[in-house]
Amino acid sequence: MITKYYNTNDNNSIICELCPHNCHIKVDKTGICGVRRNVNGNLEILSSGIIASSGLDPIEKKPLYHYYPGHKIYSIGGYGCNLKCTFCQNHEISQNVPERSNGFRHNQPADLVAKAKFLPENIGIAYTYNEPTMFFEFMVQTAELAKLEGLKNVMVSNGFINLKPLDELTELIDAFNIDLKSFSDNFYKELTGGRLNPVLNTLSRIKESGKHLEISFLVIPTKNDSLDDSLAMFNWIATNLGEDTILHINKYYPAYKMQVHPTSTSTLVELYELAKTKLKFVYIGNLHSEEIGCNTQCPSCSATVIKRSGYHTSLSALDSKGYCKICGYGPIVILD
Ligand code: SF4
Repeated sequence: MITKYYNTNDNNSIICELCPHNCHIKVDKTGICGVRRNVNGNLEILSSGIIASSGLDPIEKKPLYHYYPGHKIYSIGGYGCNLKCTFCQNHEISQNVPERSNGFRHNQPADLVAKAKFLPENIGIAYTYNEPTMFFEFMVQTAELAKLEGLKNVMVSNGFINLKPLDELTELIDAFNIDLKSFSDNFYKELTGGRLNPVLNTLSRIKESGKHLEISFLVIPTKNDSLDDSLAMFNWIATNLGEDTILHINKYYPAYKMQVHPTSTSTLVELYELAKTKLKFVYIGNLHSEEIGCNTQCPSCSATVIKRSGYHTSLSALDSKGYCKICGYGPIVILD
């Protein structure tokens, strides 16, 4: 598949404009992500339509807690990533790009949409598992068809994308979960190969678009768990995106090249309590505990409006439009 968002120079070298790396790619070479190759001055995607992983997931698994809670979504992902996180929890597919696309099944958007339509209790398609920007054009084609069929589109992303292609996505994607891996540019540079500011720009742009947004923050001991940086992050979110922004503070487990010990419960709870001083909806993820950071409370009357146990969700005090049944506050979640 030929892609867009690039410019070709006189000597057939290319500047890719899809993500903030803006790679300069010579003929027969790929960019940093490894999935976009310069073939005689055309930028081709090596892995378009190749599905590395798929499944019908609870939407809470994305995680999205305020978008059709209790529903399921057909989730698909491919290979490759434009970041090189040393702690990647999905490194088998994100850091493993097929050398050649021969021998892989190349799915068609229409086939995936047809499957999504007939899966029981499914609300749409989530582009997830690896970084969906890597299959940007395939995602756009699939999302256009899905939208025509009345399905919802969800993107789970590292947020490292340029604003022009992001604007194309916000026309099609209904809900985003974006990683905010740290509030330190050094962390991004040293442990991900990216930069902080483009991710902040992505978050602001999605907010401006009016599309549903939730944020994930994976807390890695000694790497991004400083209270000062975290408070700066929570302040930035509250000031720039609004205090009703949904934040998931997630427990890290050793993965890939990062082998520091898992995040302690006390650190997660401390950050949770700090975030709650700035934001209305904060959750703790990957903790496998139902004691704190699972349920949704109404910010106005404090009633528990959603109870969660693992991926089981019960809308205990929400009406059909997502408003608190006790005091009428809302909408707290999107339900239609
Ligand atoms: S999408 Fe890939 S090739 Fe394009 S700028 Fe980003 S890392 Fe480079």
